Amino acid sequence: MRDQVEITYVTPLSGAFTKPKATDALEHLLQEKNIHIESDFAIERVDNENKKIIDYGGREIAFDLLVTVPTNKGDELIGRSGMGDDLNYVPTHKATLQAKNYNNIFVLGDASDIPASKAGSVAHFEAEILTGNILHFINKEPLKEEFDGHANCFIETGNGKALLIDFNYTHEPVEGSFPFAGIGPLSLLKENRMNHMGKLAFRWIYWNVLLKGTHIPFVSATMSEKGRNYEEITEH
Ligand SMILES: Cc1cc2nc3c(=O)[nH]c(=O)nc-3n(C[C@H](O)[C@H](O)[C@H](O)COP(=O)(O)OP(=O)(O)OC[C@H]3O[C@@H](n4cnc5c(N)ncnc54)[C@H](O)[C@@H]3O)c2cc1C
Repeated sequence: MRDQVEITYVTPLSGAFTKPKATDALEHLLQEKNIHIESDFAIERVDNENKKIIDYGGREIAFDLLVTVPTNKGDELIGRSGMGDDLNYVPTHKATLQAKNYNNIFVLGDASDIPASKAGSVAHFEAEILTGNILHFINKEPLKEEFDGHANCFIETGNGKALLIDFNYTHEPVEGSFPFAGIGPLSLLKENRMNHMGKLAFRWIYWNVLLKGTHIPFVSATMSEKGRNYEEITEH
């Protein structure tokens, strides 16, 4: 029934993906799937009676079925503890992962306010640096400013294909090979079957390697620039 259904993807961002480079490279996927994009739409309210959503500028979009993603927030527990910001995230130093207001607390994963993706890979990469810094703190040694915002995500695109993106605080995702420079076998920012196979293989790696805490030698906590055409981004 797909040909009888219109899908509109409405986002407060200027494109379909959080990273402009990814939007440039991947927006065609939405066109191929006949998904219409409405960007720069900061929703103000839902008018369920008249079946439309309205943004702060008064722009309206009609719907039959609305699927919304609420604002991503930290846990209320953090709010109640007084440690959080307005969104219940713990203000955290983005390179050392030490809480800004409590020097004996270190934060990783979705609980922190660092400008990295809220993703499993980020929590995983942070863990290595956080563990080291807790030990440095206990031993009264200087903390290492090592975390670079590294994120690495598969994006399933359907029909047995997937994308893989790799980026950090200062580098937009672009094309290249992963995890081995020039060899791959996975391709960055490209939709293909091999990436989907990589995603399926990752399921096994997750349960049998990552959860056991086994170190994967060729995937580092910080981002590798080898074999990739990364472009620096200036931080705001
Ligand atoms: C629908 C969905 C899809 C996602 N897909 C992906 C994906 O494809 N790839 C990816 O990389 N990431 C994905 N993510 C993001 C990823 O799951 C999170 O970034 C990651 O789980 C964060 O890990 P965390 O340990 O910080 O928090 P969590 O995994 O949320 O762990 C927090 C834990 O604390 C427990 N807890 C909470 N309050 C208390 C309390 N008071 N006492 C004791 N325990 C408590 C919770 O039960 C939970 O087990 C997805 C997230 C969602 C919601």
